[in-house]
Amino acid sequence: LSAWSAVPAGPPDPILGVTEAFKADKDPRKINLGVGAYRDGQGKPYVLDCVKKAEAFIEASSPDKEYLPITGFGEFTKNAVKLAYGVDSAPLKAGSIAATQSISGTGALRIGAAFLARHYPHAKVVYLPDPSWGNHTPIFRDSGFEVRKYAYFNPATLGLNFDALKADLLNNAPEHSVVLLHACAHNPTGIDPTPEQWSEISDICKARKLFPFFDMAYQGFASGSTSRDAFAVRHFVSEGHQIALAQSFAKNMGLYGERVGAFSLVTADPEEKARVDSQLKIVIRPMYSNPPAHGARIANTILSNEELYAEWESEVKGMAERIISMRDKLYGILTNDLKTPGEWSHIKSQIGMFSFTGLKKEHTVALAQKAHVYLTADGRISMAGLNANNITYFAESVDGAVR
Ligand code: PLP
Repeated sequence: LSAWSAVPAGPPDPILGVTEAFKADKDPRKINLGVGAYRDGQGKPYVLDCVKKAEAFIEASSPDKEYLPITGFGEFTKNAVKLAYGVDSAPLKAGSIAATQSISGTGALRIGAAFLARHYPHAKVVYLPDPSWGNHTPIFRDSGFEVRKYAYFNPATLGLNFDALKADLLNNAPEHSVVLLHACAHNPTGIDPTPEQWSEISDICKARKLFPFFDMAYQGFASGSTSRDAFAVRHFVSEGHQIALAQSFAKNMGLYGERVGAFSLVTADPEEKARVDSQLKIVIRPMYSNPPAHGARIANTILSNEELYAEWESEVKGMAERIISMRDKLYGILTNDLKTPGEWSHIKSQIGMFSFTGLKKEHTVALAQKAHVYLTADGRISMAGLNANNITYFAESVDGAVR
């Protein structure tokens, strides 16, 4: 008898399953709006020019293949932290931010969850927005957390359910609960709190002693400006919160498969930071020993070179603006050209890579079967998958599905 004869088959990953169905489809009109990766105006994966130049610099310096330290490439981590917190950040200036390189955003979340599970001196309960990125629940659950939800999306308005969100954080979350916050470009809804609402959330976290854990996977992707997209993180820090932060360079530098990220924690002072850093190493060492070097070298070259940095900012803006133009175009075709039943203004107001269209599961099934258009069953579409060549066909397919 095999040792694994009793292993039950697990369910397929809901997002990667969409890609598999797309690949199997032979129709030339097929569109994949499932996966959260940027595509250019031709529907192709996009390697940023600043990344190509950074790689040429690195190549010219003939780097060795030695191991990085456990917490990765220190210069990179320092520059990543600066990008998120801002040069004027008080804990940054004080030298009290503990940080480590991570295996992209997922790895940062996992290190953070594992560190909190071991050292956070209160109950291991995390509140996630409802809905949230599908991987948040297993990351925190596998790290030993009890996972609960706070209200976020209002299906009636296709907007933020801010009153219910506040009520959950004020009345339902016990003191010292960990609260996961999407720093910008909320996935999957594309709905972010306004600056005023962030300020209220910060006040509630303070009053209720909730621990803010930010997931910032899309800095720059929401508005086109990395500093504008860091508003929530910087506001919380300026209000004195000791935040945890997971950063990813997958989307904003297009470094998906290079797995470049950082995890950081605001501590009280440099002495406490040193103790926290030592424990981060103890968490990481048995997980994967040390992170890969190439992607961190690319990101650091861009972050530390004035010319490449400026080029990067304009390329991030270009990606964000192409997505925003697709939102306007899709709204225009549905509303003005096709007079598609329903209200579609949320497509324009939502932010970042995704739009939560409001399409129901039966619509998504019909779109796949009849129109060769693939999206997740929750009605989320990756706006980056749309371009001038396929947007009219997509809008007509949606029109057909909802009539
Ligand atoms: N967090 C959110 C909200 C995401 O959408 C993603 C990617 O889709 C990630 C984290 C992590 O991605 P990665 O591990 O590729 O950086």
